[in-house]
Amino acid sequence: MTDCVFCAIVDDEIPSHTVYEDDAVLAFLDANPLAPGHTLVVPKAHHERLNDLPADRASRVFAAVHALVPAVEEAVDADATTVGFNNGTAAGQEVPHVHAHVVPRFDGDGGGP
Ligand code: 5GP
Ligand code: ZN
Repeated sequence: MTDCVFCAIVDDEIPSHTVYEDDAVLAFLDANPLAPGHTLVVPKAHHERLNDLPADRASRVFAAVHALVPAVEEAVDADATTVGFNNGTAAGQEVPHVHAHVVPRFDGDGGGP
């Protein structure tokens, strides 16, 4: 059993709701969503930060994010999405395995940054 929670999800040791999966990337619903449909997109390989993620794997993560944005918006009838990475603890990264947040947004919900 790994001590990385997202590796444990990738390895099916911890249950999650899969949104998308391919050989390099897994996307699943956030356990503590900021909005319905809040999705996390992770490389299957363990890399702590974007700084540690090889470019080819970063491309695969971004390709999945790009495909998921319209799919997530449609799934929850959102008006927009906030997409971001908390990259490092000072930026609020709590799980030390690279992940993109895809957060559905709705007209009147407070706006973006
Ligand atoms: P961070 O603050 O590291 O950018 O975000 C980590 C995210 O992972 C949080 O939004 C948190 O709710 C989510 N998370 C933490 N543990 C689990 C888990 O075991 N399962 C799922 N699905 N999400 C988790
Ligand atoms: Zn990991």
